[in-house]
Amino acid sequence: MNESRSDVLARLPLREDLRGRTPYGAPQLEVPVRLNTNENSYDVPGEVVAAILDAVRQQARQLNRYPDREFTGLREDLANYLGHDLEADQIWAANGSNEVIQQLLQAFAGHGRTVLGFTPTYSMHSIITVGTGATWVDGKRGLGTENADDPNQFDLHVEQTVAQIEQHRPDVTFLCSPNNPTGTALDLEVVKAAYEATDGLLIVDEAYAEFARPGTPSALTLLPGRERLVVSRTMSKAFALAGARLGYSAAHPAVQDAIRLVRLPYHLSSLTQAAAQAALWHSDVLLDTVEAIKAERDRIVTSAQELGLKPAPSDANFVLIGGFADEKALWRSLLSRGVLIRDNGLPGFLRVTAGTPGETTTFLDALADSLLDAP
Ligand code: PMP
Repeated sequence: MNESRSDVLARLPLREDLRGRTPYGAPQLEVPVRLNTNENSYDVPGEVVAAILDAVRQQARQLNRYPDREFTGLREDLANYLGHDLEADQIWAANGSNEVIQQLLQAFAGHGRTVLGFTPTYSMHSIITVGTGATWVDGKRGLGTENADDPNQFDLHVEQTVAQIEQHRPDVTFLCSPNNPTGTALDLEVVKAAYEATDGLLIVDEAYAEFARPGTPSALTLLPGRERLVVSRTMSKAFALAGARLGYSAAHPAVQDAIRLVRLPYHLSSLTQAAAQAALWHSDVLLDTVEAIKAERDRIVTSAQELGLKPAPSDANFVLIGGFADEKALWRSLLSRGVLIRDNGLPGFLRVTAGTPGETTTFLDALADSLLDAP
């Protein structure tokens, strides 16, 4: 009875390759200012709430039936939203882009296969890879520069990308643009070169694409003629719908057929489909917050510089700030002031989500105070 859970876990017939692993674990704490998971801080506007409720109500009577397994209407609406002449049969969707990625890796990775990503990057890429039984390879970015003052230290360059793909010959390669946690957007030349260098699947995770600064084209423009390229997106960030769990991807229809081999039947509930469609019909209202969030992101960069810190340039709705002597102490100090941000485990760095103007001000004030207490 008094045995610890970890003792019991050690005895359970768990897969050997999962032993000692750490699960995804961004803290979910009840604090006044939550800026640690790159959510959209703005509530869903009233008119969109009403439209979602209407759509969900219409579905409620038919909950005795399984949902449309092919989520046909939703795929059409997502294709319309994305543009680029995409057709509905090029679109896939699931419960968050994490699930899209999991399905892709179930189909294209798995036991005996290798997946390459360029760290620091989104931690779930490696966690999901291992979950499918494949081997994760930690690629590097930034030309090996260890100089924390170099604003381009997290860039990913054509030559280093190609060299690492040629070295590891991965079955799946992840690019992430803008990259989490660094905020770095990719030059499309890197995507093109990575595609040429591999005969495996290339996934470009564009969860934060809507926040990119002008002049940052999407990898969606590269889809024609590239049947092994997948671009994944989400409604969790710019659309302010993290709670609805709707992620999606665009690729050749044959890639979607490959996913059909592994997805669970009826994986998208009719309530999810209805809510996501209602939200997409109001995408202009929902995306209204994007410019305001970008302004707060830029204010965080400027203010952090003024405080003598080293924020990385960001094309996302968050900023990775460097220059902390003791980032763990600073994280705790901010939390004691009611502000939760993210420690991604990068020595000297912390990541903060750009929220409302009020939240940004509270964060920046708490940051300045914390630096005075424990520089
Ligand atoms: N990709 C990246 C780069 C992310 O940062 C996140 C969320 N933090 C996701 C994918 C997953 O988002 P979701 O499952 O909510 O769509």
